[in-house]
Amino acid sequence: MQDEIKRNAMLLALSSPSGAGKSTMARRLMADDPGFRMSVSATTRPPRPGEREGHDYFFYSEEAFRRDIAEGGFLEHAEVFGNLYGTPRAPIEEMMETGSDVLLDVDWQGAQQLRASPLGRSSVLIFILPPSIAALEARLKARGQDDPNVISGRMDKAMAEIIHWAEYDYVLINDDMDACYSQIRTIVNSERLRRDRRPGLRGFVSGLDSEFRDRKATQ
Ligand code: ADP
Ligand code: 5GP
Repeated sequence: MQDEIKRNAMLLALSSPSGAGKSTMARRLMADDPGFRMSVSATTRPPRPGEREGHDYFFYSEEAFRRDIAEGGFLEHAEVFGNLYGTPRAPIEEMMETGSDVLLDVDWQGAQQLRASPLGRSSVLIFILPPSIAALEARLKARGQDDPNVISGRMDKAMAEIIHWAEYDYVLINDDMDACYSQIRTIVNSERLRRDRRPGLRGFVSGLDSEFRDRKATQ
């Protein structure tokens, strides 16, 4: 019954300093919940080994990216670590129209722009904190994706991301992976039950009212 009531899609944005675990949480949610689709961002940064066009990112030249900005092609966009990143607008609108919830991995600037956009009311913003700065560094090193210079640059920028924690709806500390994921599930399940996300409730309650009146009339 609960699932039959029409519900509006949500945009779930995950942000964190690099290495705190947002990609890990995003991968789990995508593998676990068929109601979600992942937004694939555009970026001007070069692909890392193993990254695939259209799967991890759409890799744009700076010229193409700036043209898309001018044409209003992005729902939000920002400069992060010296490269441009943005959320292509059309796929998000299409996914939401077909009833899918959409998961986005965006920095604090992207999260703020989502909130301020016409889709702000559909947005749920989650910030993921590391349990400590030492753990953050250990995770970046253990991930083995970036060379030491890149890691030290990401560490330098970590506090610049963390200071925006209070602009989010939910703030999680990713100490234990399973515990953090279970908190994300709790948020998703609760957000799906919000009254203002469920326009179908109006019709359902009208039905209860009709049933009530019919019963009265035949008593
Ligand atoms: P982000 O997407 O925020 O940059 P990742 O999800 O890539 O971060 O995580 C960085 C590294 O830390 C990965 O190797 C991941 O497996 C690991 N990691 C994530 N969460 C935890 C955790 N709770 N405990 C230990 N390691 C973790
Ligand atoms: P990375 O280069 O490590 O994949 O991502 C670097 C940073 O860019 C991360 O903080 C990530 O959240 C952010 N990012 C990725 N895609 C987008 C996007 O579409 N918009 C914004 N604003 N940030 C993004």
